[in-house]
Amino acid sequence: MASKPAKMQYRRLGRSGLKVSVLSFGSWVTFGGQLEGEGAEACLQAAHDAGVNFFDNAEAYAGGESERIMGEAIARLGWERYSYVISTKVFWGIHGGPNMANTLNRKFLMQAIDGSLERLGLDFVDVLYCHRADPNTPLEETVWAMSDIITSGKALYWGTSEWTADEIRAAWEIAERHHLHKPVVEQPEYNLLHRRRVEREYARLYDDIGLGLTIWSPLASGLLTGKYLDSVPQDSRASQPGYEWLKPSVTDPAANEKVRRLVGVAADLDCSPAQLAIAWCAHNPRVSTVILGASRVEQLHENLGALDVIARLDDDVLARIDEIVGR
Ligand code: NDP
Repeated sequence: MASKPAKMQYRRLGRSGLKVSVLSFGSWVTFGGQLEGEGAEACLQAAHDAGVNFFDNAEAYAGGESERIMGEAIARLGWERYSYVISTKVFWGIHGGPNMANTLNRKFLMQAIDGSLERLGLDFVDVLYCHRADPNTPLEETVWAMSDIITSGKALYWGTSEWTADEIRAAWEIAERHHLHKPVVEQPEYNLLHRRRVEREYARLYDDIGLGLTIWSPLASGLLTGKYLDSVPQDSRASQPGYEWLKPSVTDPAANEKVRRLVGVAADLDCSPAQLAIAWCAHNPRVSTVILGASRVEQLHENLGALDVIARLDDDVLARIDEIVGR
């Protein structure tokens, strides 16, 4: 008889009081590209049923369609607003033109949050991220505007994505100095092949400012499943129109040699390579949540099974992984 899957764990988003499921679900590439309507609903519900409470989105995903699809699906599923945490991210914009693209100026931020809420069909998002840093707007202007959005109730917490440690600390210090709402979370890439920023660059921020992490691409866009070991499958992300730029990284021979060895580690742990990669991210206590991506519900079921694997990562296994991927 199959054993029962492990129960979802919830972790605090850094030093904030917000609790997020250690595995969460995001919509980049998939919503509006590979999934909409019933397919999107099936994935959202499968995640929710497994205890996932955090759902990630961005205004730029599918030019705003991803927010619309997620908002409509959640409304149709009839989830109570208190049962989920939803985030979105702004920076690139969807309209183009001065003040509406590649900026974190006050005008953009104030209008961008309204656009996201309209597409999501919500009164507020739980977490709003600055999707990238903006060297052309004074940091003080961005921090004041983000803090004002929190005060307005349109977002409950704010954070950054792919900012440098110095930028995050500077934003936090501006907020501290002026008694503003501080950034509580960063959303960086983190996976077996991309670990330096989370483990080294941000190392001091966790205790100094209580930074939480919602990490992205735990499977390096699918590379860590082993699906690109021999070829690029027709139905995979790297074959999607507009994502040709991913091909060189997912077919990189050196990366795939590491994946081949990780497949062996996964087999010894009686799990899939995807589950091993996801469990490894979640094993890091600095990670508040690992954002999963899935183009079909079967992948999500498999990936949620990583919960069972976290406890199997003992010191010997971790050392074996370090030897393969490097530190
Ligand atoms: P992953 O690295 O986990 O890649 C997910 C993709 O891998 C799926 O869409 C699917 O693509 C493939 N896959 C997933 N599971 C399996 C499986 N079990 N077997 C085979 N293939 C599988 O995560 P994402 O890159 O999607 O990132 C996760 C989330 O993080 C995003 O949805 C988004 O919310 C967030 N994100 C944030 C960014 C930021 O700048 N802040 C940047 C990128 C993502 P396919 O089937 O098409 O091959």
